Amino acid sequence: MVPISLLLKEMRSHSEGAPVVGFSDPFKVLISTVLSQRTKDANTAKASKQLFSKYSNPKELAQAPLQSIEKLIKPAGFYHTKAKRIKKISASLIEKFGGSVPNNREQLVSLAGIGPKTAGCVIVYGFQGADLPVDTHVHRISNRLGLVETKTPEKTELALKKAIPRKHWAEINHLMVRFGQKICLPRNPRCTECGLKRKCVYYKTSAP
Ligand code: SF4
Repeated sequence: MVPISLLLKEMRSHSEGAPVVGFSDPFKVLISTVLSQRTKDANTAKASKQLFSKYSNPKELAQAPLQSIEKLIKPAGFYHTKAKRIKKISASLIEKFGGSVPNNREQLVSLAGIGPKTAGCVIVYGFQGADLPVDTHVHRISNRLGLVETKTPEKTELALKKAIPRKHWAEINHLMVRFGQKICLPRNPRCTECGLKRKCVYYKTSAP
């Protein structure tokens, strides 16, 4: 298996640029993570900026007309579904937690529309806590490298948390997202430029 020190060194060398989540306020992290699903960073940033310029807290979003939210978040795609989720999450935050975002996984995933990845992003990017949100990049790269051998992001999270010391969990999402956008691309990964290739299961078994 690739040594964790080598993994971190290589991925940190490709991690320059803005943070994967462009907010530190837990509510904005939560909503922008919902917006980021199945779209590009630039679309998420545009939709988030437009949305938060008009509605920036759970109360405002819970009361906002659905069509108004849809219009503001249109750049993020799937805007009918995402607008409904955002409104529902905002209403649940008010109903269950007095309008605050809880800082633990169990309470976050108790809210309708929030899964493990979104909850993990809120813990890491909103509360600077130790968690390891697994998105499509983290799932793909971890399996290619042989850090884990899993079929679902949920199983990847459990396996990665065993393979990587807790003190490094919080940076893994950012590092793997950037690495996945620049080097370990979903299709045609740039293996010849990758400093991990000698330890990578995919490179040893599948690379052309
Ligand atoms: S060698 Fe290729 S498949 Fe393996 S981590 Fe690097 S880019 Fe990804």
